[in-house]
Amino acid sequence: MRKRKLENKKFKIDDKVEAIERRACCAKDEKYILKGKIAKIIGPEPADEEYEKKWLGGNTERLISHVWRYAVAYICPVCGLKGLVAYYAPGIKLMEKK
Ligand SMILES: [Zn+2]
Repeated sequence: MRKRKLENKKFKIDDKVEAIERRACCAKDEKYILKGKIAKIIGPEPADEEYEKKWLGGNTERLISHVWRYAVAYICPVCGLKGLVAYYAPGIKLMEKK
């Protein structure tokens, strides 16, 4: 079997990011764009096939790679609860500085 490649890290601890897709609040029936800070970087680990197909149409480069996940610490703007949720790099982007 081929050796897996390692994805370059796209974000670093304390980067301010926002999610690409809206997320449902677990307390109320409302969706929001998650915004927060990278608290932890998880990995490297093998790419999640189901996820990769959803996001990247089965991009083979990533499928055979080890990838990173970014745990984002956030506060839900709907209910105000703090949370931590892990995203792969294509699921988040840097927040624009204002
Ligand atoms: Zn919430």
